[in-house]
Amino acid sequence: MSPCKLQMEQRKGRRLILFPFPLQGHINPMLELANILHFKGFSITIIQTNFNSLNPSTHPQFTFHSISDDLSESEAAEDDLLLLLSHLNTKCSEPFRECLATLLSSLTEEPVACLICDPLFDFTQSVAESLKLPWILLRTSGASSTAVYSAFPLLWEKGYIPKQDSRLEETVTELSPVKVKDLPMIHSSDPERFFKLVRSITYETKDSYGYIFNTFEDLEQDALATIRKKFHIPVFPIGPFHKCVPATTSANSLLSQDRSCISWLNTQAPKSVIYVSFGSIAAINEAQFLEIGWGLANSKQSFLWVVRPGLVQGSEWLEPLPSGFLESLNGMGHIVKWAPQKEVLAHQAVGVFWTHTGWNSTLEGICEGVPMICIPFFADQMVNARYVSDVWKIGLQLEVGIKREEIERAIRRLMMEKEGEEIRDRVSKLKDMANLCLKQGGTSYQSLDDLINHILSLES
Ligand code: UDP
Repeated sequence: MSPCKLQMEQRKGRRLILFPFPLQGHINPMLELANILHFKGFSITIIQTNFNSLNPSTHPQFTFHSISDDLSESEAAEDDLLLLLSHLNTKCSEPFRECLATLLSSLTEEPVACLICDPLFDFTQSVAESLKLPWILLRTSGASSTAVYSAFPLLWEKGYIPKQDSRLEETVTELSPVKVKDLPMIHSSDPERFFKLVRSITYETKDSYGYIFNTFEDLEQDALATIRKKFHIPVFPIGPFHKCVPATTSANSLLSQDRSCISWLNTQAPKSVIYVSFGSIAAINEAQFLEIGWGLANSKQSFLWVVRPGLVQGSEWLEPLPSGFLESLNGMGHIVKWAPQKEVLAHQAVGVFWTHTGWNSTLEGICEGVPMICIPFFADQMVNARYVSDVWKIGLQLEVGIKREEIERAIRRLMMEKEGEEIRDRVSKLKDMANLCLKQGGTSYQSLDDLINHILSLES
């Protein structure tokens, strides 16, 4: 039997249990990974929380189990992200343990090879260990920001954190070109919660059976090398996930996608549209919202803008915009509540992506070769934005915040000036690399093979 066939035979009858963290930017890559591993012959069980749960009927190829998270209405609507994380960690631990234990005792004919989980859940390690189940982490952020998180003890020691206003523009010598202002931070009523999170996504990783990344070697080689050196566990950069296997783009979406934007894009000239989206969590105030609106309108370029309900603090949706704002643009602007983003970025009409540089969005932009304007908000987004603007040089950062003149200038530089052409060339090259790494002999292709062999070698 050929090695490939032998591997396929071994995988049959092996089940993997995946436990996504219930936020859009974490659900997407975990479910994409589930599709990849299912395509490679594994049976897949997804354990999900009731909070932000997916409809199992959109994924008939997987078996779903829900656990009760018992979040109250106010806890589920919590604006303080770290507090929400803390509630989920407190309330899901026991239901998860019970669910996993029941599954392990019932799935005797199809042994469970391992658990794949998200380090944002801080209890999975102890639960898996107590049930003698190997566990592998999926890191849904990039390797570069993970390497920055792993340097936190050093950053403390050197006095870079807690951040001081007087040092924000200083480059962190050990992490150049990352600046002090780029160091990951999530504001919370209790700052200690953030450092607890950092500990969970760094130190506890060391004991896991492996680390999966949604990235590719050519994009983040140095950071991956740093992580390999620091953690001494197998590291598998097998991304970009969404390009590995075909999947329905709407199946993982918590909000319903408004497809009117695709019909609208069909009427626009190639590379003429700025696509604006700040992901599923970031929020802005009314003044910033108006600056964005006027910056886009004054640029005289067509734009597709995702204004998620909740994006503008204190507003339902578009009320802060002056009445007749869109109409006055004579069809040059289109606003939706949620878009089929991957399809939008792949559309020939899209010429620029104005993004908050969440890791999924950054990677999706790279995969379609779209130059970016970056406005990071929190956590890893600032590091991603620094890499986009200063390392890969595939976009521009709005360094002084959301101001209409700066928005207009960035759009002009990307769409009309030579600098924009050079940026477009560089991101096109990265797009080609992303495609190549998934082909036979490519780094992600090989790494996926290594991951599968690793999973098959695990004994629970
Ligand atoms: N997304 C989408 N439609 C939108 C905006 C975002 O489908 O209108 C998807 C996007 O493709 C990405 C995810 O939501 O996969 C957002 O993840 P990211 O890591 O970029 O940001 P987060 O939401 O975690 O801040």
